[in-house]
Amino acid sequence: MIDAGHGGKDSGTRGKHAMEKDIVLDISLKLGKYIKDNIPDVAVIYTRTTDVFLPLHERAEIANKNHADLFISIHANADPKGQAHGTETFAMGLHKTQGNLDVAKKENSVILLEEDYRTTYEGFDPHSVESYIMFELVQNIHLEQSLSFASFVQDQFRERAQRRDRGVKQAGFLVLWRTTMPSVLIETGFLSHNNEEQYLISDQGQDYIASAIYRAFKEYKLAVESKSQYDVEFAEKDTSTGNYHTENTFTYQKPTNQSPPSAVKALANDSVIFRVQVVSASSPIPRDNPLYNEYNLIEIKTKNYYKYAIGEKYSYHEIKEYSKSLRNKFPDAFIIAMKGNEIIPLQEALKKVN
Ligand SMILES: [Zn+2]
Repeated sequence: MIDAGHGGKDSGTRGKHAMEKDIVLDISLKLGKYIKDNIPDVAVIYTRTTDVFLPLHERAEIANKNHADLFISIHANADPKGQAHGTETFAMGLHKTQGNLDVAKKENSVILLEEDYRTTYEGFDPHSVESYIMFELVQNIHLEQSLSFASFVQDQFRERAQRRDRGVKQAGFLVLWRTTMPSVLIETGFLSHNNEEQYLISDQGQDYIASAIYRAFKEYKLAVESKSQYDVEFAEKDTSTGNYHTENTFTYQKPTNQSPPSAVKALANDSVIFRVQVVSASSPIPRDNPLYNEYNLIEIKTKNYYKYAIGEKYSYHEIKEYSKSLRNKFPDAFIIAMKGNEIIPLQEALKKVN
């Protein structure tokens, strides 16, 4: 899903010569063409292909209705002092700096052009800092994928398009708020910066930006597909060979009640346990969240994320069945293996269990 920001009566930010709505539409159409021409099995959908006004919530709705796998919102930036330049890519979350909040405020303020924005966005006031606290509470299950695509984009901007890399960031963007898939908002450069405006106006500059995002998309697609292919591979081996991953050879004996307690503990500590990871977030889920009661959620703190898993199976086959039952509620859930409190590579776990 490619979302060219702004449009129609909403011109977005303005440089000396250009309007954001025109530049980001050109880049979006170029990006879509790159993908269609080179990866024909990908369906490209646009929120807009012409100069029309579109409320922010409708953009997310179009993506959700079409079951998009990735939402790419394309924008251009402005800095009142005219000094700042470079590109940055955002995933939805709570801002860590004032600068990140300012970008979100600017992009969100376009809802003031929508009729009845107070009802649509549940009283959200784009200019009030308090309003942004809700983004802390949004549990963004797609955060990891969104940040991974965002870093592919910034790598390409920096290395291939020679743009200044302002980094991967998080802030509360309403356009990403209701999307149910990995989603990013890309600030392709500053129209307030003379050279950068010239670059973004030029056909060649737009082409560099679009092809950088296209290459990042290709990398992301490969990464996502190799992960799920791996999953499929094991499932197939399960049923076709019948000896490598069968229930018998593949299962740890679950400790029974008859075992002495100390033995149970020893075995449990050393055992590989399979779980289903359902959420990852950059801040912890509060303990009073109903998910805890409903699912017996387990928190796993890693270097950059709080990961949340449910289920506890000693057999890969069983966790696979269990994960299918969760697909409606957690469409992006995936299987992880744990030893003690640590997540271990799935491949390693499957070898151990075998
Ligand atoms: Zn914008």
